[in-house]
Amino acid sequence: MEDIAEKTFDVVIMGSGPAGLTAALYSARADLNPIVFEGPEPGGQLMQTTDVENYPGYPEGVMGPKMMQEFREQAERFGADCRYGMITDIDFDSQPYRLEVDEENQIFAKSVIVSTGASAKWLHLPSEQKLRGQGVSACATCDGAFFRDEHVIVVGGGDTAMEEATFLTKFASKVSILHRRDELRASKAMQARAFNDEKIEFMWDTELQEVLGEEAVNGVKVINNKTDEITTLDDVTGVFIAIGHKPNTDLFKGVITMDEVGYIQTKGQSSKTDLEGIFACGDAMDPVYRQAVTAAGTGCRAALDAERFLAEYEISQEALAEEQWVSQ
Ligand code: NAP
Repeated sequence: MEDIAEKTFDVVIMGSGPAGLTAALYSARADLNPIVFEGPEPGGQLMQTTDVENYPGYPEGVMGPKMMQEFREQAERFGADCRYGMITDIDFDSQPYRLEVDEENQIFAKSVIVSTGASAKWLHLPSEQKLRGQGVSACATCDGAFFRDEHVIVVGGGDTAMEEATFLTKFASKVSILHRRDELRASKAMQARAFNDEKIEFMWDTELQEVLGEEAVNGVKVINNKTDEITTLDDVTGVFIAIGHKPNTDLFKGVITMDEVGYIQTKGQSSKTDLEGIFACGDAMDPVYRQAVTAAGTGCRAALDAERFLAEYEISQEALAEEQWVSQ
């Protein structure tokens, strides 16, 4: 990264999921020469998915990693500089903003687009991690349709778990919700919907102990944490972990306003944060929709907002320079 050390960029994009790469495409086409730091998971959460069947324009579906490669190629075609690397520190006290790359070099940015995404929380069982993308998922909207007439489990007791379970009943023959307590955290309305669904059964005080299978899921071992009784559900083929998401925004704590979970707050329908020239898009600011297509839409907004901001920034800088020249 030495080639960019100490340079000032019009637009620095942090993250390379659908939001970041759409922001890159739009800002590259606007001649803003964006530089994209792809982050620890280049391509974002879609790199963990197999078929994406709900992104418009792909009637036959597309593999998540292939789609993200194409997003990247499209942005690069217009000059976006996409690099493997991370912004490891920020100083947003004065403009141009200072960013540290890979704990080594510093660069400067007139505007920054934060598209660092969110990560699903996992239980971190070895068997769960081994079968991720092969029957273990954290996204029912993405993967639910692969479990038509199958028995699947959902782990969690919050709104996400209820929503995922209810959605899965469209396809699955049976959905078992495993919750570690005997009381749900989910809102009453979401609970009621799940309780009233004949396809959903609840397993209380129950934790997932192991996902069975080598190349695909062919059962789960669960444990009742009150009685220590272990049960094998050998007809389960799908495991959905729904214990929450965490936005990847730790770097901005105390710098940009966010909600109590860590989602960056944006103003109205825009991507503007409370700092001038800092824009947020995608899952880093969206706790509700969290889809590739909605993330791409917010990435587009961020690029348009940055473009407008930069036009005004240039005018204000010129005016400042003129003022200084006159006063000399
Ligand atoms: P959440 O409310 O934090 O619930 C997480 C659930 O997962 C809890 O029931 C928790 O159990 C369980 N859990 C956490 N870690 C676990 C572990 N290691 N092992 C087993 N279980 C574990 O998260 P969420 O459901 O994703 O919701 C997050 C926010 O988004 C909430 O404010 C929610 O209302 C909102 N949301 C809204 C909608 C909607 O309105 N359509 C949809 C989804 C989410 P405990 O209860 O025992 O802690």
